[in-house]
Amino acid sequence: MEISDAVKRIQERIEAACVRSGRDRAAIRLMGVSKFQGIAAIEKAWEGGIRLFGESRVQEAAEKFIPFKRQHPEVELHLIGSLQRNKAKTAVSLFEGIQSVDREALIAELGMWTVQREKPLGILLEFHTGEETKSGFSGVDALCRATEQVLSYPGLALQGLMTIAPYTDDTARIRASFRSLVAAQHTLASRFPDGDWSCLSMGMSDDFEIAIEEGSTLVRIGSALFGPREP
Ligand SMILES: *Cc1c(COP(=O)(O)O)cnc(C)c1O
Repeated sequence: MEISDAVKRIQERIEAACVRSGRDRAAIRLMGVSKFQGIAAIEKAWEGGIRLFGESRVQEAAEKFIPFKRQHPEVELHLIGSLQRNKAKTAVSLFEGIQSVDREALIAELGMWTVQREKPLGILLEFHTGEETKSGFSGVDALCRATEQVLSYPGLALQGLMTIAPYTDDTARIRASFRSLVAAQHTLASRFPDGDWSCLSMGMSDDFEIAIEEGSTLVRIGSALFGPREP
């Protein structure tokens, strides 16, 4: 399938999921996850209307998106993969947002490198809701401590939460994972009412419709847009 057709197909499925669950389509952003994809594929996704991209590695993202951003300054790029502290400085200069913030030492590093930044760096705290992945804060108390830390740095703009559901065909477990992200959002919003908790980044190619039904505001789609990737 052509990438532009794949974008249309995903848009239709997002709209259908919104209709089913009484959600407003405008409340959901579509991210194209372009890891392992070449610049030609990214260009096609752009032509198909994708304006937000996600990459999981700093070096790979830099190689592709430093030139891409010169051509398309309006593009928005987020990191969705684990970030090593020694790459934080590069990450801060490349990404508009980091969705995979999963430990306090990383927050301190990002806070330090963003002090001089004009526009604050968007931050999503990653919550560990599925057993298979190891990344993410493991409980609400840890999320609360991370929140206090993020709020203490002027260069960091807290925007919400991210999770990766378990890789399983068991939709009940996937749904439970998304529900626990929503529950964490409610708890955090009551403890930190001045914080911005509006973004819930949840849902990938195989589970984004469930995620939308459960309240996702940002779906991260890779293979369903670009086709299978070769790692
Ligand atoms: C790779 C990746 C995605 C996209 O996965 P697909 O199943 O190909 O849609 C989304 N989120 C994260 C964190 C990823 O690493």
